[in-house]
Amino acid sequence: MDAKRTIVSATSIHFVKGVGPGLGAVFQSRGIESVQQLLYFFPRTYENRSDLQTAQQLTEGATATLKVQVLQQKWISVARLNRSILEVRCQDAQGGAVSLKWFYAPKGIEKRLVPGSWVTVTGKVKFYLQKPEIIHPEMSWAESQATVKSDQTDSVGLHAGRVVPIYVEIEGVSSRVLRNVLGEALKKFARLLPEDLPEFLLQRHSLPKLADAIQEIHFPELGAEGDQQFFEKLSHLDLPCHHRLIYEEFFKFEFLLLRRKLAFQNVLAPSLPKPLPGSLAASLIDKIGDKLAKRWSLPSAREGKKAIFQELCSEWEKKLPFRLTAGQKTAVFEILQDFAEPYPMNRLLQGDVGCGKTVVALITAACFYSLGGQVALMVPTEILAEQHQQTVRKLFGKELQVALLTGRTKKSERVALQARLLACEPLLLIGTHALIEDSLVFPQLMYMIVDEQHRFGVEQRRTLREKGKKVSKSTAAQPTLRLPHSLIMTATPIPRTLALSAFGDLSISAIRELPPGRQAIRTVVLSKPEDREAGVELMRRAMGAGRQAYYIFPLVEASEAEGFEHLQSATEAASRLAQEVFPEFQVALLHGQMSSQEKEAVMQSFKAGTVQLLVSTTVIEVGVDVPNAVVMAVEHAERFGLAQLHQLRGRVGRGEHQSYCLLLTQSGNNSVAYQRLKVLEQSQDGFAIAEADLKIRGPGEFLGTKQAGGLEFRMADLVRDAQWLELARQDAMEVMRLDPELSSQALLPLRTYFEQHGGEDFARLGTG
Ligand code: ADP
Ligand code: MG
Repeated sequence: MDAKRTIVSATSIHFVKGVGPGLGAVFQSRGIESVQQLLYFFPRTYENRSDLQTAQQLTEGATATLKVQVLQQKWISVARLNRSILEVRCQDAQGGAVSLKWFYAPKGIEKRLVPGSWVTVTGKVKFYLQKPEIIHPEMSWAESQATVKSDQTDSVGLHAGRVVPIYVEIEGVSSRVLRNVLGEALKKFARLLPEDLPEFLLQRHSLPKLADAIQEIHFPELGAEGDQQFFEKLSHLDLPCHHRLIYEEFFKFEFLLLRRKLAFQNVLAPSLPKPLPGSLAASLIDKIGDKLAKRWSLPSAREGKKAIFQELCSEWEKKLPFRLTAGQKTAVFEILQDFAEPYPMNRLLQGDVGCGKTVVALITAACFYSLGGQVALMVPTEILAEQHQQTVRKLFGKELQVALLTGRTKKSERVALQARLLACEPLLLIGTHALIEDSLVFPQLMYMIVDEQHRFGVEQRRTLREKGKKVSKSTAAQPTLRLPHSLIMTATPIPRTLALSAFGDLSISAIRELPPGRQAIRTVVLSKPEDREAGVELMRRAMGAGRQAYYIFPLVEASEAEGFEHLQSATEAASRLAQEVFPEFQVALLHGQMSSQEKEAVMQSFKAGTVQLLVSTTVIEVGVDVPNAVVMAVEHAERFGLAQLHQLRGRVGRGEHQSYCLLLTQSGNNSVAYQRLKVLEQSQDGFAIAEADLKIRGPGEFLGTKQAGGLEFRMADLVRDAQWLELARQDAMEVMRLDPELSSQALLPLRTYFEQHGGEDFARLGTG
């Protein structure tokens, strides 16, 4: 139907003039097989050869382009090298002298450089005996030279007298050859590139058509602005041609995310089980459900809903040792509203360390439980699983049946647990990765919560969700799919660009305030030896006053060898700290390679206060809650991301005592690393820190390595091009609203694109 589209993506590069079998193979080894792929092989950089220079203007070391007339050529034999050098003496129009030299002269070049002929040359200038010369210059022959071989001509002016693209030299293929090939490909095929974006969107943002943009990227024309400014923009991908491609990538991506979000609305939520008698949550959800009966806007319904929610909140607050913050209440309410929808919730709950996400998770879990459902809460560590279990017991006592499943759960307990899951008994199951093991069957899973989501991959979350998946082939032709509600939580506030991209298919709740009465944590970066001493003394005083402290060492898990080294250093540090530095206190070591019994024992004694100093790797990063701990010292702080350090810092400042975060580093006060750490001294705002971290370290920090790899766009950059992402999203929403099927004439090419390529380009993205 769309003939053009097939042409460029299906035409082999061999159809481009100048691409023979040899060059073809080189391209293919780089994954460039079609003309379309060739056109997207962009220059690495550019050279301004638009201004011809005179011999007079040449300076040592600079790259210059000038037009010269050949005067004389001679071969100079160099005995030492056992070869001859070709020297061609030339002059420019003003009579200024310049020599061209070849140590390895291309075959037959001397025949073309006949005295009297004109040639444009480009290359790096060197002065030899005070005379300028260019060694191995790049040549652009004048059009009139009929004798010249075709790959050496520059009839269209690709190589000089303009801004010239420089490509990555692939396997010795020079930029010059690549320029010729791309020049040909553009001439013949650029117009045939499919234009996927509708005219009205291009006009809205004054963006060029795709063919023009691609042409411009390869062979840019100097703009009206000064050269300096032009090249600045060129190198920052900040010209309209770049904007066009960036916008297109973002637009397609956002459209797909929105579509995926919408697709979720065709999936059914688990049907609510039988509410336990007298459950307030049930009547609230009933009331919220009025929305479905279109009574949402009636004042009576709204009032009723509010009243029940207030009643619920005060019920909870009776059990809680504190009042809920406004952010917590809103989050709970948003989740309960989702429970009343006919399709499953897919929600991200974000909020700074210590803002109290756990209680939101547990209250909503309890609500779901009171409706008679089974809920899973997945956490990354056993320590955290056990801590959550204790919190549940404390808050809800026997009212809520809770079970634990970790790698340590005994076989007999597992069997019993499995039976309870199959018997549809209402239950909150808290567990680690053990929850997603194949052997566990969890057909009644209706609400899943993932804590510290960045510790899990997309796949793992999906695996858990699939456990509760149900496909029914009842009456309708189309089978209906049911999936559990899903809430994923993160303590790393997600910068806005990422929220719109990596998490764009999720609804988002954010808790922006910390519970009242929290003291600000004093943070200091310590790099000088005397400052470290002061840090040690501060810890000593704190522990002497009955408080506790953490001392963190980095453990890089990616590399075993490196990990081992750091493990050694944490172990050594622990014994040094215990024997030499703090002999008067109990020091314990905790790291990821200890058995879970050992970890548990250490954690218990830290919680109980028998251990004052906990030396640890980042296993304690997530969720651990010991209010009496007031010092967080981090060694080699420069090795951590800011967001991660902020998270570590959140382990202290949880009680009524003044808390401290000591960031120890060997990096000098003027280093970038040191300056970066200083951000933490000034800011306690997780959102601001996250934005800073995204700028410095890229999205990997927030997404876990697997996803970060998947979020690479061809030209767009989430940080640099944030404003284009916003625009693209707004437009994608508009299109989705007006013509979700893309059936209008203007949107047909886009529809074809999605039908043919949509899945594969962006399938790896999103959070599902
Ligand atoms: P995070 O969001 O980092 O998971 P937690 O849920 O672990 O935070 O909560 C941190 C601490 O704050 C816990 O000790 C918890 O009991 C307490 N907390 C939670 N909500 C409130 C509140 N509204 N008022 C006072 N303390 C609260
Ligand atoms: Mg937490």
